[in-house]
Amino acid sequence: MNRFSYSRASAVSQALDQHRAHAGAAFIAGGTNLVDLLREEVTHPALLVDINRLPLRQIEATGAGGLKIGALATNSAVAYDDMVVRRYPLLAKAILAGASAQIRNAATVGGNLLQRTRCHYFYDAGTPCNKREPGTGCPALEGVSRIHAILGASDQCIAVHPSDMCVALAALDATVHLAGKDGTRTLAFADFHRLPGDTPNRDSNLRDDELITAIELPKQGFATHHAYVKVRDRASYAFALVSAAVGVELDGDTIVNAHCALGGVAHKPWRDPAAEASLRGQRLDAASVRDFSAMLLRGAQGRRDNAFKIELSARVIARAFELATQPSFEESTP
Ligand code: SF4
Repeated sequence: MNRFSYSRASAVSQALDQHRAHAGAAFIAGGTNLVDLLREEVTHPALLVDINRLPLRQIEATGAGGLKIGALATNSAVAYDDMVVRRYPLLAKAILAGASAQIRNAATVGGNLLQRTRCHYFYDAGTPCNKREPGTGCPALEGVSRIHAILGASDQCIAVHPSDMCVALAALDATVHLAGKDGTRTLAFADFHRLPGDTPNRDSNLRDDELITAIELPKQGFATHHAYVKVRDRASYAFALVSAAVGVELDGDTIVNAHCALGGVAHKPWRDPAAEASLRGQRLDAASVRDFSAMLLRGAQGRRDNAFKIELSARVIARAFELATQPSFEESTP
């Protein structure tokens, strides 16, 4: 049984002080993942610092023409916010593709970035797992691997990041705002999550003493041409086998700019700036998307149960570009 202390903070500095004062403390907000981890005895925090009263729920326009979303804004608040729906519909669609209405009402933006993998072995405290207990092994390498990574994995861990929201945030070039004992800093979204390498226990580059305070989106929201396509084993309330968040800027049928992030395939949302650069100036058609897809997926490696994800990813990418540029197609398909 987990025994832990509990405290509540009403200011960011107070939350950081409380966290710092107890080795093994953890912040709790919506708790939609952390409570599972506690119940399954995957994690054993000595103290839970409740941050729900911190003033971090705002969603506001920035002077640079972007949008700043407080880390405690719930998934629902973000998905139905007027500015998000109008200017960043890709983000709204990705959020609504995830979880259930009840969970979206409780889950927060900050928690979404920090949710842990859904690898079965990780949640089973009776099995070895390098992410849960470094150095114990990775049974997924030779075991059940249907939901595991095809890109960026290591011989220590083949887990994937489970978030839908993060796939859209990656495609939108978000910035993560952080506060810690040494002050505040920002991280590009691409640099926030890590690949497993030989330290799969570390999911992100968040420092132990830091708190996520906000996400900032740049001006370009791809409101006109975007799509989020998610393929999963169940029609709802299931994590992605593969998903793609695509935003395209067009001049006629020529690509001015295109962003594409994949979910369900790696330890972090998967993007490749070189592959995206290769699309610029090209006519958007099946051939250019196929070449892009081959570049984005180069190096993909399937295992016993998940080799299908390589071809599935190519199809999901093709479908996402199709939907992004032919919205009438979306309306006419079931
Ligand atoms: Fe653990 Fe990662 Fe292996 Fe899953 S894939 S068992 S999380 S080390």
